[in-house]
Amino acid sequence: ENKAIATPGRTKEILAKAGFSFKKSLGQNFLVDVNILKNMLHHAGITEDTAAIEIGPGIGALTEQLAIHAHSVTALEIDQRLVPILKKELGSYENVTVLNEDVLKADMERIVHELKNRSKEVRVVANLPYYITTPILMKLLMDRLPFQSITVMIQKEVAERMSASPNTKSYGSLSIAVQYYTEASIPMIVPKSVFVPQPNVDSAVLHLERREKPPVDVKNEDFFFEIVRASFKQRRKTLMNNLGSFFKGSLEKPEIREVLEGIGIDPGRRGESLTMEEFATLANAFTYQK
Ligand code: SAM
Repeated sequence: ENKAIATPGRTKEILAKAGFSFKKSLGQNFLVDVNILKNMLHHAGITEDTAAIEIGPGIGALTEQLAIHAHSVTALEIDQRLVPILKKELGSYENVTVLNEDVLKADMERIVHELKNRSKEVRVVANLPYYITTPILMKLLMDRLPFQSITVMIQKEVAERMSASPNTKSYGSLSIAVQYYTEASIPMIVPKSVFVPQPNVDSAVLHLERREKPPVDVKNEDFFFEIVRASFKQRRKTLMNNLGSFFKGSLEKPEIREVLEGIGIDPGRRGESLTMEEFATLANAFTYQK
């Protein structure tokens, strides 16, 4: 019978046959709803021209759908016990490559460039291990690798933080970090009931479309991100107070106030009300002061 891997029946059977026991510490929650995966691939923009990179294939639920719809799939899985299972279940697809690697240690630059050389576009698609969502995404974004997009299933709350707009509860330094490199959206909310075992939290699909260049001009990127983090350090405090702590020992409060007023930003505002554009202006104004 050729039922999809992403069904409760097939998944149960594959796991039982292999005598597989889940490792909670590796964030192993497998998807058992093929329609959700097909929908996800649609939002990811996968076509027969796409070289897909998957992080954490598990027993191949998403890998199988990628093998069917994309040009090729390169999947990185840290758990070596899953490698023979993947080889067996996906053996009939010639366009699948499984690498037994930790994505945080892998040479993504080499992998992406190699794929880019022989395909029209590279896209990352994954149902991520939730315990390392942020480090994985920041690694992919900050290395400025030449892929088109990243579409990942992650914890709903984290997806909301990454795609948040100013003046919302979820808006913070993570929103700025992600949106500096990409355009972020949440095309799907995913209930916990479609995973085995069920996680404690609901999930969402986060789609990140790579920007050609950042939406703002900053003189010093590291300093820009430092200023952003400092401005959100104590959410309830004003910009003046947070920047006061950040510049302690190098700039006095009256000097900080003068710079803020000079660029038309009220020192009494909170970090959560500033747009990325305003953070850029702010960071640029202080770049030569610190
Ligand atoms: N893609 C499968 C699915 O949708 O059913 C499995 C998703 S599961 C949420 C996350 C997968 O990531 C697990 O297979 C886990 O072993 C793997 N994983 C965890 N940490 C990893 C790492 N550092 N590098 C690569 N894979 C990892």
